[in-house]
Amino acid sequence: MNIENLLRENIKVIKAYSSARDEYKDASSDMVFIDANENPFQTNVNRYPDPQQSKVKQRLADIKDVKATQILLGNGSDEVLDLLFRAFCEPKQDNVITLPPTYGMYKVLADLNAIEIKTVLLDENFEPKVSEIIENQNDNSKILFLCSPNNPTANSFSANKVEQLLNEFKGIVVIDEAYIDFSNQESWMSKLNDFPNLIITQTLSKAYGLAGIRLGICYASEYIISILNKIKPPYNVNQLTQDKALERLTRLDEVNNEVDSILKEREDLITKLSKIPFVETVYPSDANFVLARVDDAKMRYSQLIDNGVVVRNRTTQPLCENCLRFTIGTEEENKTLITILNQL
Ligand SMILES: *Cc1c(COP(=O)(O)O)cnc(C)c1O
Repeated sequence: MNIENLLRENIKVIKAYSSARDEYKDASSDMVFIDANENPFQTNVNRYPDPQQSKVKQRLADIKDVKATQILLGNGSDEVLDLLFRAFCEPKQDNVITLPPTYGMYKVLADLNAIEIKTVLLDENFEPKVSEIIENQNDNSKILFLCSPNNPTANSFSANKVEQLLNEFKGIVVIDEAYIDFSNQESWMSKLNDFPNLIITQTLSKAYGLAGIRLGICYASEYIISILNKIKPPYNVNQLTQDKALERLTRLDEVNNEVDSILKEREDLITKLSKIPFVETVYPSDANFVLARVDDAKMRYSQLIDNGVVVRNRTTQPLCENCLRFTIGTEEENKTLITILNQL
């Protein structure tokens, strides 16, 4: 598969902006920096940040066992996903395929970039319909978005279906692994070098507890990363974010403890939700949230609001009629939820 053929024509020839910090990144810190029109007085952030976020990438590379040159960081996954549209999808010509019910940003970004979106619903087990997806692709189908574990259904897709899609889809396959740290299925990271069209996105927003700093991660071949690097805004990840990310990534034991606690709470919440009389189905979860079908989602949603609990009503999503999505909170928050549900 020739990835270059999938790129937009203008992206093939574009030249990256060369920032002041890019040109002299190896200079020692006792040099006089009067190249970037910064204010010389110290605020801790008076200098532009490292445009390549080398320290954060090196740390991630060590943790994930990939090369730092196989990583692109963005201002949240949102920016990473937007860059993928800009690299591969020609407005008003190309299309992408998504598998609803799934994460809403794929459609928002497709609309924003004037890209047609083809949808192939998941099956009744929330698994991809592989042959239907393959039949639906055409020469302009550039990206297939697989969200696994999927939001809002909380399941991981079966590995052999994903592998079939990786083999048969003729464009880029993006596997969005925002929730992978809560899953007992293996990440696709180990397959990165087997499939040149595979792109994996992850984030520090969920398991790593850093939604507020906005750090999205893209893992792919060095070639794809070099293209994305060329088109990203030069200083897209700010200094405070880089510092905070690095700090958290050196304290993985904390992250792991929090994930363990969320997983324990998840099992507890599933058991307790199943016993609520008006809860009809509690779906299994491979993520830090649980999808449950109730008798009347709209009514239960507003009753919960009246009691000070905000959940996500997913009833308008295909296959999710009368479904609410519950994020796993602290032990106390989950207790509050169950107490209130029992009183309704
Ligand atoms: C929450 C979430 C993300 C994370 O997005 P960020 O912009 O990195 O916060 C990505 N994908 C899915 C499916 C999500 O649910």
